[in-house]
Amino acid sequence: MSDNNKHGLSRTINPSTKRIIRQRCGFGCVICGSAIIEYEHIDPPFSEATHHDPERITLLCPSHHSEVTKNIIDKEYIKQADKNPAAKQRGYSDLLFRTISKPPVLVFGKRNIFEGGGFITVEGVPLIAAKAPEIGSGVWRLDGNICNSDGSSIVKINNNEFHLQGHAQFDFQQIQNRLTVRDEKSIIVFEMEFQSPNYVRIKHMVSRSRNVVIVAHDDDLTIWREDGPVSFTACRWLDYGLNIRSEEISFLP
Ligand SMILES: [Zn+2]
Repeated sequence: MSDNNKHGLSRTINPSTKRIIRQRCGFGCVICGSAIIEYEHIDPPFSEATHHDPERITLLCPSHHSEVTKNIIDKEYIKQADKNPAAKQRGYSDLLFRTISKPPVLVFGKRNIFEGGGFITVEGVPLIAAKAPEIGSGVWRLDGNICNSDGSSIVKINNNEFHLQGHAQFDFQQIQNRLTVRDEKSIIVFEMEFQSPNYVRIKHMVSRSRNVVIVAHDDDLTIWREDGPVSFTACRWLDYGLNIRSEEISFLP
């Protein structure tokens, strides 16, 4: 099958157009809000399109996409959903980590922090923390507030719901098991990976909370305070995570 339609238009949509579509659709399938997405030309269909118009391409999860392809869902329904996307109505898109069925393990490079009620908190406010499943659910829950280097919030995670802050500035993308948030200059400001069955790997983060700055970059995790760096290797990890205060680093009981 040729990748180009009869007008010579390639199936490949350029990244900036995709970004406009994702932002317009609230970063999720317009029908169900799933963050695992594909791009679908709604009007005209791809076979008739002469260019990739971001106003006429929508986001669908793989299962809703296949229902459209099989004519189980008609195009009018998609157009209505596109005008009022599910993820925008709810304010968040769903994540893969809603499937965590064992106590999650937070990983920074080669270091592991084992769940026991908190991962990392800064002055009592969780940067990333885990909660036991609700009764009858069996799915572990993550809470968190990831900030940018200036202290403004990028992502709030609440009961496994991923709330991107400042939709106009940030771009959120999920490809397979990796979540990436980019700023308005397309620079990665936060990246995390979910690895089955229960590993949550922070690949990139420069998060400032109060006067504590936590930098995670591939293999390393560095914690800074206003008055200077803190030697991370001097910390001893316990099963219950790490609590950081502006004036000291202390372990949770
Ligand atoms: Zn869907």
